[in-house]
Amino acid sequence: MLSRIPKWMGDLFEGLLRPNAKIVQTSCVSPQIKKIRFQGDISKMNFQIGYANVIRVSETEYRNYTVAYHDSEEGIFDIIFHLHGNGVGSRYTDTLEKNDVLYISPPRGKNLYEPDVRQQFIFGDETSLGLACSFLPILKQNQHQFQFYFELDEENQNVPELLGLQNFTVFPKNGSFRNEKWISDLPLFKTPEWKSASFVLIGNVKSVQTFRKVVRSNTSGKITTQGYWLEGKKGL
Ligand SMILES: Cc1cc2nc3c(=O)[nH]c(=O)nc-3n(C[C@H](O)[C@H](O)[C@H](O)COP(=O)(O)OP(=O)(O)OC[C@H]3O[C@@H](n4cnc5c(N)ncnc54)[C@H](O)[C@@H]3O)c2cc1C
Repeated sequence: MLSRIPKWMGDLFEGLLRPNAKIVQTSCVSPQIKKIRFQGDISKMNFQIGYANVIRVSETEYRNYTVAYHDSEEGIFDIIFHLHGNGVGSRYTDTLEKNDVLYISPPRGKNLYEPDVRQQFIFGDETSLGLACSFLPILKQNQHQFQFYFELDEENQNVPELLGLQNFTVFPKNGSFRNEKWISDLPLFKTPEWKSASFVLIGNVKSVQTFRKVVRSNTSGKITTQGYWLEGKKGL
């Protein structure tokens, strides 16, 4: 789906795009990280690890967000929003409160889970915390060896723990993941058993691209990437 559609087209599809989800709870995990629980008819939705839902954030703009947790019987689902303050989506989700209603599309996209690979590595930032939360139960259930690396702003350093994530390492968001030499010195690349892991690299486009180059030249693992945002670019 496009991140922006003309108003006349939005009006044409108004019936299809009308609010279908109601907010039942909001909580601030940090000043920048807001978790929202929605209620709606999700009985026919197909949730896969890595799929994203499009949220209507203004009359003409749509943005991608990941369902972190869902319970189809109860009709509830959670999304974890990064309130970075730079865009219409961030500002809109910052204002959302209990009982608000909005349009959220069914999930679609790229399945990021490789069930046949024992070692699973996931890299991301604040925008990837929801994906990590959706990944964790299946990684544990299928007894994978797994680790998460997150690059996070200072105020979000304790968020993975507050969200109940496990086997994670938090790095400051200081440009290190733009430095190939620094990345190649990470402990991940020093352990032979991780050479054939599944590498899921998501979040900031530049960090993802740099990390991908290092994984490619240091391992024979399967690499899946998806840029979630890029400096100066609206609505990836
Ligand atoms: C498949 C997929 C799943 C995603 N899941 C989530 C999710 O679960 N939670 C979540 O919070 N985000 C998620 N994102 C990222 C989110 O869609 C983008 O961050 C989006 O750009 C936010 O829209 P916006 O209107 O706030 O900013 P935009 O209007 O898109 O961008 C305006 C400015 O803000 C900057 N910007 C955008 N995002 C960030 C950021 N995170 N940090 C700092 N600056 C930023 C842009 O570079 C640009 O300069 C996902 C993206 C994809 C593609």
